[in-house]
This record gives sequence, structure tokens and C-alpha cells, in this order.
Amino acid sequence: MAQHVTDFHGILLYRRDYAERDFLIKFFTLEFGKKIFLIRGAKKRGFKMTADILPFTVGSYVGDIPDQGLSYIRTARETTQFQGIGADIFKNAYATYIMSLVDIAFPDSQPLPDWYHRVYRALELIDEGQNPAIVTNVIEIQLMPAFGVAPQLQGCAICGRTDLPFDYSESYGGLLCQQHWSADPRRLHLGPRTIYYLRQFSILDLDRVHHIKVKPSTEHALRQLMDEIYASQIGVHPRSKRFLDQMQDWAPRLKTPPAHDEDD
Ligand SMILES: [Zn+2]
Repeated sequence: MAQHVTDFHGILLYRRDYAERDFLIKFFTLEFGKKIFLIRGAKKRGFKMTADILPFTVGSYVGDIPDQGLSYIRTARETTQFQGIGADIFKNAYATYIMSLVDIAFPDSQPLPDWYHRVYRALELIDEGQNPAIVTNVIEIQLMPAFGVAPQLQGCAICGRTDLPFDYSESYGGLLCQQHWSADPRRLHLGPRTIYYLRQFSILDLDRVHHIKVKPSTEHALRQLMDEIYASQIGVHPRSKRFLDQMQDWAPRLKTPPAHDEDD
């Protein structure tokens, strides 16, 4: 098997115990896509790279990266940790969910420089204290095509009109203009703000986002919409999402009025 000793940039997606002294780590690398690394002796006292392989670390490394199979790190060049995420259970939960979605959405060993950049930026925004629920919504919406669901958000899925109020229809796979609402009795009855953000987020460049402010009722409606689409059309519900759901039950500050409060 060909070995490539090479520089790479990586976002640590997760790490797992492996044998008594070792870790398995999954990196989303800029150059090679997602790769699993065996870190031998990582749990031994005095291991040199302990700080370089903590959760929520990004950095540049040198490693052996074969086309298939396990990779190995030789040295870490420069690494940093998203400390804001590491220190806050809410940020942590959203960031973990984003990384698990990206892990499920794409096969390993496929270079995805654009997505590497997007995940990096999403983590950076969450780390800085921007609303993690909304950053997560942006990633969820933009990941839909990778899961084989590409909603029609440009105009009405039936007639293409863009000048009437919209609602969202799962059976038509996108927006319906008011004239065609009758075509789907099970349309989702979304408010105009939710529709607005759904459309905006699908094309949003996270690099250009510096401050996010969305009304709590809209945030709640977006969460419900994502849950509906991910449950019924995508069928992906990672353990990290179950944790997020539980967390929302514990946390009164996340409890928000129901979506139908949205009236403008
Ligand atoms: Zn229409």
C-alpha cells in the first residue's frame, strides 16, 4: 500500500478509545477529506501530542496518509483548540452535532475543501459566541443536497412564481406559492420569517456572517422545520442530536414560544 508522508490540515471530528493505550481519531482534513488515524500510545503519560489531539482542535500536522486504511500522525506543527466550544456544554453539543452530520453526509477519503472551510467557519462562529442553533441550521440546510434532498427554494415548486407568500411542502420538495397551497393539504404552515431564513440560509456564505440575530419564535420554527425534514425525508438522527434534544428539555432558556406566534 502506498504511504504518503505529507503535511495536512485537520479539524478533529471525534476521538475514540482504541485498545488500552491508543486513540482512534477522525480528522476532516483539508487535503484528503475525512480520514481515521490511529494514535499509538496516546494515553501514556508523557505522550507528546496530548494537546494536539484534544476534542475541538484544528491544526496542521505531518502524517502518513494512505489512500485506504488507517493513517498516522508523525508530528503536529501548529494546533489550536476552539476553547469557547470546549468550555460550554451548549456550544459543545451543537458543534458535535454539526461534525457528526458532516461525517454522515460524505464518504471518507473524498477531498471536500469547500466543506472543510464551511465547517471551520461554523465552529469559529460558535466559538465566538454567535447563536449556535442558527449556525447549525445553516449547516443543516446546506447539507441537504449531500443527503439527496435538494429543496426547491428559488420559487414555487409548481409554477415558479416568486412574488406571492410561500409555504413549504414536503411532498412537492420545496416552496409552494399561495396560489398552490391547496395542492398540499399537509403543507407545513410556516411563517414568512421562517421561509425567509430558510431561503437565505440555503445560500448564505458563513464567511460573510459576523452577527446573527433571529427572533426566538423563528429560531424555534426553524428547529422544528429541520427536525421534520431530517426525520421524514433524510432519516438521519445521530446520537449527538438526541443529546441536543435532551439538552433543550433541561434548559429553560432555550424554551421559546411555538412557531405560530410568528405573525409578521
Ligand atoms: Zn405556484
